[in-house]
Amino acid sequence: MNKFKKAGALALAIALGLGALSGCGAKKQVSTSDGAMDMDIFMHFYGYCVFNDDWDVFKVAAEKTGVTLHGTAVETVSDSAQAFSTMLSEKELPDIICYLGDDLKKNGERGALMPLEDLIEEYAPNIRKFFEECPEAKVAATASDGHIYYIPGTLAPIDMKNLPSMGFFIRQDWLDNLGLSVPKTVDEYHDVLMAFKENDPNGNGQKDEVPYFNRNGKLDDLFQLFAAHNGGYVKDGKYNLGFLEDEYKNAIKEIAKWYSDGIIDKEIFTRGNQAREQLLSSNLGGSTHDWFSSTASYNEKYPEVGLNFVPIAPPADINGVVKEDMGRSLLHGLGWGISKDNKDAIRTIKYFDWWLSDEATQLHSYGIEGVHYNVVDGEKVFTDEVLNGEGGVPNYLRNIGALVEFGAINDIGAELAGMNDLAKEGFNMYLDNNYVQPNVPALSYSKEEQKTIEAYGNNITTLVAEQQQKWILGTEDVDATWDKYIETLKSMNVEEYAKALQSAYDRYLEELN
Ligand code: CA
Repeated sequence: MNKFKKAGALALAIALGLGALSGCGAKKQVSTSDGAMDMDIFMHFYGYCVFNDDWDVFKVAAEKTGVTLHGTAVETVSDSAQAFSTMLSEKELPDIICYLGDDLKKNGERGALMPLEDLIEEYAPNIRKFFEECPEAKVAATASDGHIYYIPGTLAPIDMKNLPSMGFFIRQDWLDNLGLSVPKTVDEYHDVLMAFKENDPNGNGQKDEVPYFNRNGKLDDLFQLFAAHNGGYVKDGKYNLGFLEDEYKNAIKEIAKWYSDGIIDKEIFTRGNQAREQLLSSNLGGSTHDWFSSTASYNEKYPEVGLNFVPIAPPADINGVVKEDMGRSLLHGLGWGISKDNKDAIRTIKYFDWWLSDEATQLHSYGIEGVHYNVVDGEKVFTDEVLNGEGGVPNYLRNIGALVEFGAINDIGAELAGMNDLAKEGFNMYLDNNYVQPNVPALSYSKEEQKTIEAYGNNITTLVAEQQQKWILGTEDVDATWDKYIETLKSMNVEEYAKALQSAYDRYLEELN
């Protein structure tokens, strides 16, 4: 630890009222059991999340554990995959590697990372507890050679398995203007959107309304209303490819009809990610399906428009089922492992273990008590600086190293605390009513499966997306071209592709039980 960093850490420790630093001046990898120790970490993902030695929460972690991390990746490289492969090609690897779990497993099997299961068994009670309470995490961390190569992290407390992310929103002010009630079924939803199109709810005398829009440039969100799936999904022990099924065929026909009826944005495929911005600020958009937090912010953002854009329960699908397919997974898919060149794996696993303690979960989720939040009447309340931080609470927290995706549990309170009341209302409605369906779990592929998926996967998904657009835009008729579509997919080895996914899922279920 150089003098500057030591001074900085001390100043922080004093500012935070923490105890004096224990045993400074230790060189990298000096294996005193409790003394201070410096370690290198590679962390570079999402193209922008790069370990920063100045992150406050990691300074507190250093204070608690004696282990100070130093990032090796640089922000000037914006391509995470490139940074990762460059790091792997170096002669000596950093002590700790934080990256996408699938890549950690792959490189673990090649010898770049140490197997962790024995270390966990002997030195890591919090990790053991985490794996017991969240077997999905253990399965995700286990490579097809049977070894554990990384410690995953979660987006939520581990008892919140089906967490909402998105929901349906509708213009309550337009419903009121037309004397309509909130649609409860897919048919009612269709009729409301039709009324939005025909009956001038924005009151300007023109049929200029865009009833359903979506900034993703996709219609994935509507498939669920027709009991169909656009991609892979799991049910009753089976991994299914939705785009091969009759339900999908039917959904495409219905959605194509919605499109030709003019109740779906004519520019859905081209309007781009500013669709909400454009269509809500101009008082033209009627309904969408999107993230609670950001979508609930438009009423306040454009007060002059007088929007009352509110979250509603998912309309019941064609079978009468009220559900939401677009949840988010419990695991974020990233984590950290111990490299082959790490000289003190025991100290490192103990450090990882600390990050799964209750104390560390609070630090990771909220930052530092007295600095970033205070406890008022038993509730954590963020300071004004955090609440008013540019880009919202989560963004502020990420800049101090909190909420960053590594082997830690996110309490989710921070995300809720950053939401306005309307967003919370929507989020809680979907959560409390258990609308959210299980996500496809994180699977580990054998080398064979990996080869198959890499060889065929991209071509298949590209063809599906292209064909879907042709059908919805009406340039090709679904009934007339369906058989040819299935045949083409078969010629692209879709059956082998499905088999590889199924065998990975079978293994997942086996390991889980
Ligand atoms: Ca109008």
